[in-house]
Amino acid sequence: MSAAVSEAMPGMEEKVTDGTTKMIGVIMAERLYAGLIVDHQLVGELKSVPPASVKLGADEDNSMVEMPTDEVIDSICKLAVEVAKGYGSEILAVGVAVPGLIRNGVVEEAPNLPQLKGARVEAKLTEKLASHGISAKVYVVNDADAVAAGLASKHDKLDHFLRVWTLGTGIGFGTYPFAEGVWENGHTVVTLDDKERYCGCGGRGHLEGIMGHRSMRLRFLDMEPEEVFAAANRHPDPDPRCLEFKRLWHKALAAATASSIHSRGPGRFFLTGYNVRFLDLNMLKDYLHQMVKMSPLQSYMLEVVEDSHATRVLGAAVAAEQAVGR
Ligand SMILES: [Zn+2]
Repeated sequence: MSAAVSEAMPGMEEKVTDGTTKMIGVIMAERLYAGLIVDHQLVGELKSVPPASVKLGADEDNSMVEMPTDEVIDSICKLAVEVAKGYGSEILAVGVAVPGLIRNGVVEEAPNLPQLKGARVEAKLTEKLASHGISAKVYVVNDADAVAAGLASKHDKLDHFLRVWTLGTGIGFGTYPFAEGVWENGHTVVTLDDKERYCGCGGRGHLEGIMGHRSMRLRFLDMEPEEVFAAANRHPDPDPRCLEFKRLWHKALAAATASSIHSRGPGRFFLTGYNVRFLDLNMLKDYLHQMVKMSPLQSYMLEVVEDSHATRVLGAAVAAEQAVGR
């Protein structure tokens, strides 16, 4: 038998492997997705619950919102067993990306998936997987951090510090490399206006309260966000209320980005998520230029990248790998 024995990580059983690093990445989007990652590459297709053949309703995110926590854990386990097929005992780590504030494997807050608040996902999943022959370390990571790790891996920047904004139902902010801590920059206060209270967390003046998809629907009860931006971009007569909002949306993102630059320095920012389609990069750069005036801080870079489930799944696994190696 030519299999080599990998070096044992502290606190882990030794794994018999063929020399490759095998991990599983799991993400929560409009469905649960999982994939097998071998040496930083996705192998085979992503599997999902519900499966891709099941059509979802108009409200894209409802299949996850309505899934009770125990069912989420069971479904992740089922997916992991499925994608690990044949390699169950060789899986080094399972990374689970969750849109929320994660500490010590516990989902402490998840405004857009409220049923997960307080869920001990790491502990429960570790136990469940073990009963199916997968003795891997489980790491729960913030989903935006997973996006950052996925982009770092995909763009060959595993040795760079990078930040990412994910513009979706909520506003995620991720950093790479993986580190312990909290950076809920989606909840950066970007306005002192008392009327700005649309954020899912209940806080006043937050970035997500302006840019988040759910918040936009609350603000414009009579229009969908797509219609708001279409009306703002209409030539030659844009809707004044919508145009004003489009400017506020970009100013808010510029403000939160400027705050991050002022606290952590310039560097590379990726912008992604399904609402990156609303982004006018020139408008953002213009506002940012007005907000960051110290010349040593002006060497920041903004890059729009397409959102993909595969990048997030890869990132969940890479972030987990780094957590294992700590
Ligand atoms: Zn908030």
